[in-house]
Amino acid sequence: MDKSDVASALAQAAVLLELKGENQFKVRAFHAAADRVLDYAGSLETFAAELEAGKLKGFGTQLAGHALEVCRTGKLSLLDELVAAFPQGVLEMLEVPGLGVKKVKSLYDGLSVSSIDELRNACLSGEVAKLKGFGEKSQQKILQALELKQTYRGKLRLDAAGRLAAEVMQALLAESVCQRIETAGSLRRKNPVVNNINFVAAAADEERFISALRQIPGAMQAVKNSAQCIVLRLENGTPLYFHLTGAGEFAAALFLQTGSASHIAALKSLEPEAAVFAARSGAEGADLDSEQEIYNALGMALIPPEAREGRGEIEIAQEARRAGGVFPELVHESDICGIIHAHTTYSDGLNTLEELARAVHARGYQYLGVSDHSRSAFYAGGLSENAVLRQHEEIDRLNEELAPFVIFKGIESEIHPDGSLDYRDAVLEKFDFVIVSVHAASRPNCAEMTERVCRALALPYSTILGHPSGRLLLQREPFDLDMEQILACAAEHGAAVELNANPRRLDLDWSYHQTAKRLGIPVPVCPDAHAIDGIADIRYGIASARKGLLTAEDVLTCWPVVRVRDFFHRRKRGLASARHKL
Ligand SMILES: [Zn+2]
Ligand SMILES: [Zn+2]
Repeated sequence: MDKSDVASALAQAAVLLELKGENQFKVRAFHAAADRVLDYAGSLETFAAELEAGKLKGFGTQLAGHALEVCRTGKLSLLDELVAAFPQGVLEMLEVPGLGVKKVKSLYDGLSVSSIDELRNACLSGEVAKLKGFGEKSQQKILQALELKQTYRGKLRLDAAGRLAAEVMQALLAESVCQRIETAGSLRRKNPVVNNINFVAAAADEERFISALRQIPGAMQAVKNSAQCIVLRLENGTPLYFHLTGAGEFAAALFLQTGSASHIAALKSLEPEAAVFAARSGAEGADLDSEQEIYNALGMALIPPEAREGRGEIEIAQEARRAGGVFPELVHESDICGIIHAHTTYSDGLNTLEELARAVHARGYQYLGVSDHSRSAFYAGGLSENAVLRQHEEIDRLNEELAPFVIFKGIESEIHPDGSLDYRDAVLEKFDFVIVSVHAASRPNCAEMTERVCRALALPYSTILGHPSGRLLLQREPFDLDMEQILACAAEHGAAVELNANPRRLDLDWSYHQTAKRLGIPVPVCPDAHAIDGIADIRYGIASARKGLLTAEDVLTCWPVVRVRDFFHRRKRGLASARHKL
């Protein structure tokens, strides 16, 4: 139970109150209360105490009563009542991307649509288009969103899968039903999205193991899938596979269950393969007790799990072994020298510039590249020219105080449909770096979108392309664009391309990292932090960068401050000489 749980209960209540048709003031008061809880600087205990003493603004007697109930009991009876008042299907409709409370309410009130299936049918029969406030186009959009929702079902993002796996392993180890358990499959390979979670477990008593699985919160069913495998189904639909093994064959099982299928297939086609694949059947030569030994027996260096995708890693590992070495060292989180791409209270961040700078400094980094939203992102408090100047003054002051720590002056500028950026040249010139990104909801065709991004990259002020595909994993598909062409464009103009480390994005996707590397494009791993906590997302970015076989040299944010400054400023000098030629 923490502040975010309290906030989320209040926010959910707000949504359902609106769905119920309660007056807007009440709805807004609940939303605002949720925000206040999140913004509250002290602990949950002091929050509750101040609430009880009536010291907190924005909480009338009733609202304070609800908030106190959640703080004290972890439950909100009002929310339970509201949930019970609607069919489950209506609540599911709220999760369809693009369907806000207002639209769900119209569908429920106007067409009595109360489930996803009914909604699909109402769209297919054309009823939705006839409903006031909808029309053909939004009916089409709803159908597409429903289709996506179907394909996203049961899948998990890397962060959620990692948390779930850790909880499950902890529960099983606490029950002492296995001696050892590790994740395998796509989660161990750090795929941005996983369809299932695989574990390898050394468990002596299968019956006890299965009954422990059935005790896991949310467990629907735990059954044997094959001789060695048990599948656990949870309420959210993601299957969990447990591959049981004896302690002696653990390494071989872990290796095989980690995959990927194409990695294993490529290895199987090699000579000599006998030792490893004999290990699987428990025949002779089965006592290879580490993955290191398995790969060495196959005539290659140990390949990091993230890299096992059958995309050239085997050749690299063979080469390394022949030269008597190990697999090239991929980037580690400890290689990161600084933080680039972070938002402050100047735009939509939760922490002030000073708080953020001090936090980054305290974590031992050499620099912080601040990049609030630019003017046209009005929905996110984008900065006016005056605000930019004010921020720059504050940065100058903090830089004096915190030296040799450096705060770079940056901005995340919207790329307009014609490829132009926010602000006049005179203002753009004042930044050390400019991240150029597309956030707009409109989705032009591939040629238009590619052109739009390429135009922006050709501008002399563009330093880094932000979250290049625009995807939000399991929520919004990437923009329709030609990534190869965009990367070629970035290379031509000497721009960097970010690997946005937010686990909802992980964008540039790992599958393009080698293309970027080949083209000589530096790839900063950026947290896109909107609060101090967000800095920790770096670890997901690093996992993806490793998957893309990037080394510390390839990652711009692993460069020391002098080199980063030089990179930013060379770009600006390029601008000066280009002007000169004109
Ligand atoms: Zn952005
Ligand atoms: Zn951002």
